[in-house]
Amino acid sequence: MKPLTINFARMKETIEYSAKVGEIPNNGLCRLALSKEDKAMREQFQEWMIEAGLEVRVDDFGNMYGRRKGQTNLDPLVVGSHLDTQPNGGRFDGVLGVLSALEAIRTLNDYEIETYRSIEIVNFANEEGARFEPPLLGSGGLAGVFSKEYVYNRQDRDRKVFKNELAEIGFKSDEKNRLQRAHAFLELHIEQGPILENERITIGAVEGIKGMSWLEVKVTGEGGHAGPTPMPLRKDAMMAATSMIAHIERKCADADGDLTVTVGRLDVKPGAVNCIPEKVVFSVDVRHLDDEIREKFIAEEKAVLHEMAADRKVDLETEMLWEVDTSTFHEDIIFQVSKSAERLGYSNRRLYSGAGHDAKYMNDFTATGMIFLSSVDGKSHVESELTLDDDIYKGANVLLDAMIHLADNKE
Ligand SMILES: [Zn+2]
Repeated sequence: MKPLTINFARMKETIEYSAKVGEIPNNGLCRLALSKEDKAMREQFQEWMIEAGLEVRVDDFGNMYGRRKGQTNLDPLVVGSHLDTQPNGGRFDGVLGVLSALEAIRTLNDYEIETYRSIEIVNFANEEGARFEPPLLGSGGLAGVFSKEYVYNRQDRDRKVFKNELAEIGFKSDEKNRLQRAHAFLELHIEQGPILENERITIGAVEGIKGMSWLEVKVTGEGGHAGPTPMPLRKDAMMAATSMIAHIERKCADADGDLTVTVGRLDVKPGAVNCIPEKVVFSVDVRHLDDEIREKFIAEEKAVLHEMAADRKVDLETEMLWEVDTSTFHEDIIFQVSKSAERLGYSNRRLYSGAGHDAKYMNDFTATGMIFLSSVDGKSHVESELTLDDDIYKGANVLLDAMIHLADNKE
């Protein structure tokens, strides 16, 4: 039988609707988790799910599910991603994963296809971690990686608490609504890197997710007036921090090409032009496919940073904010993604993800896989993030085909 294809014009309408909810200049989106924009998008998504005949429920983490009943009560196939974004995010990211799952359901309805297993589509809460750190709180809570108490007590920068904010937007519901069991989980997402585009390949069959660590480094020196204090008498936290950051970059350049380091956040106190910085806190994001190489890099850098702090007579504290090992997805799901791409005649290759995704924690919960779509210039988490219509159409078709096959799996 020829593979079914989705209704792209209909899917495009949902993408365009979503692109307006939290719209910022230059085609960007700012839809932070549990914000009023997130609330508005969730309400629309809920309506779409109800219109598609799905049985909708929300769990205690704010994860939303829509269930399409199958012929049996066997464990369902679960498909989805997240609708929240970074503060200067793009309109594709996880949004495509949720909206392509919805479109696939609508297509199954069009053709009146009954699958053997039920299918549940899902929107996970706070995937980005832009407002409440760490990321992946909804999927991590579901997979048992984070306790309910831990998730509920997360605070944003205004000290607003996850639990209250979730209740405030009307999406704090019952623990009994959590996904209990699943046959498999499949997530479509943009690649957020340049590999597919460079090789002109349409579909990525994702093999797993690179391990990563989020280290926080606190440098405490002594404040003072920028004028009267002679240079040799200073304990300037900023000068110490910047030499540490430069060292981290140099060491990374010496390592193999798979290692990446990013200093994405830097807080300076007091943060005035004419004040010697008293305290600087910065983050270091470290990723590598090999967990041992990542861990060794961090241990060695920590030792060097302590020496550098001692030389400059500043205090140094480090804290590991978040850490996950490399995970490998289920072979059957990776294979199904490639097979569906083949059936549709689309070019495809296997690759690892350098970015974290809900699939990371869902991999601890059930057999998991992902579909990647090409990102123009490899960009994401910026307004200029772009995935072309043709790739979105093809990706959604692969998702649909893989869904039908996985949901008809009788074993
Ligand atoms: Zn994402």
